[in-house]
Amino acid sequence: MDLEKQALEILRTFEGGEPYQLGYSGGKDSDVVFHLAKKSGVKFQAVHNHTTVDAPETVRYVRSKRGVVVLYPPMSMWELIVKHKTPPTRRMRYCCEELKEYSGAGKKVITGVRKSESRNRRQNQGFVTLIKPDRTARKLTDDELFLSNDKGGIVVMNYDNSEVHRMVESCYRTSKTLVNPILEWDDEYLWWYIQKEQIEINPLYREGFQRIGCIGCPMAGKKRWREFSRYPKYKDAYIRTFAKMLEYRKVCGNKEVAGWKTPESVFQWWMEDQCMEGQISMIIEGNEITGFREKG
Ligand code: SF4
Repeated sequence: MDLEKQALEILRTFEGGEPYQLGYSGGKDSDVVFHLAKKSGVKFQAVHNHTTVDAPETVRYVRSKRGVVVLYPPMSMWELIVKHKTPPTRRMRYCCEELKEYSGAGKKVITGVRKSESRNRRQNQGFVTLIKPDRTARKLTDDELFLSNDKGGIVVMNYDNSEVHRMVESCYRTSKTLVNPILEWDDEYLWWYIQKEQIEINPLYREGFQRIGCIGCPMAGKKRWREFSRYPKYKDAYIRTFAKMLEYRKVCGNKEVAGWKTPESVFQWWMEDQCMEGQISMIIEGNEITGFREKG
């Protein structure tokens, strides 16, 4: 089936009750789903979660976008780092939960998630994902079209079935339902579609950025060096925050961490994005954390 037609059908099929919430990040995928949602005629509200570490160009671009509501998080990235007493890492992305994922509970949320973007998404998401399924919804996993994901949610692998529609619709009151209309789109099709439909996108893409997101995101690995050379004030802000974090650790009586002598050495450790000698793994709130060792 034509991918645009499929996306429009998914949006129209799962509409009903409250308007959709559309997760608008300011990246190209969210501009495409914004365009598709308008084209489909469904009722929706686009919402952007300001992360406090977005590129200034993205902040301006999102503010210029008509129809997008900007939400501000209860705590900034800088406050979260001090509170958690560690920078966010690949394995400990507390910031995503606290800066981006808090809105949309109980709603149907349109996302720009695509399988080609990450292995995780290939494994954990379908056309529709029920984040916190209730007991009735959990029974759906007896059906071969529904799979459990490793986070306790349910993934609808194939929306093109009337029985599946009925079952998913009956679960809309669960905590969050993600509707992923461009799940199957690869980069080639996405760029072709942007050109064909003349969709306006974030000006950073014209400057060679392939990924629009938080400056300093641990998932960006070594690409962060380029981000910090373009936005040196963000580097300074992280280092100032690491100084506050080290102070706070002292006040709380936390043991010294190997490699975390100064704010600059924390920054270096963080940017190295690799294990240091003498590291241990530990479990904090169910997440395995590697990357630092407290000196005993
Ligand atoms: S820095 Fe990365 S992990 Fe943290 S909120 Fe931003 S995208 Fe999520």
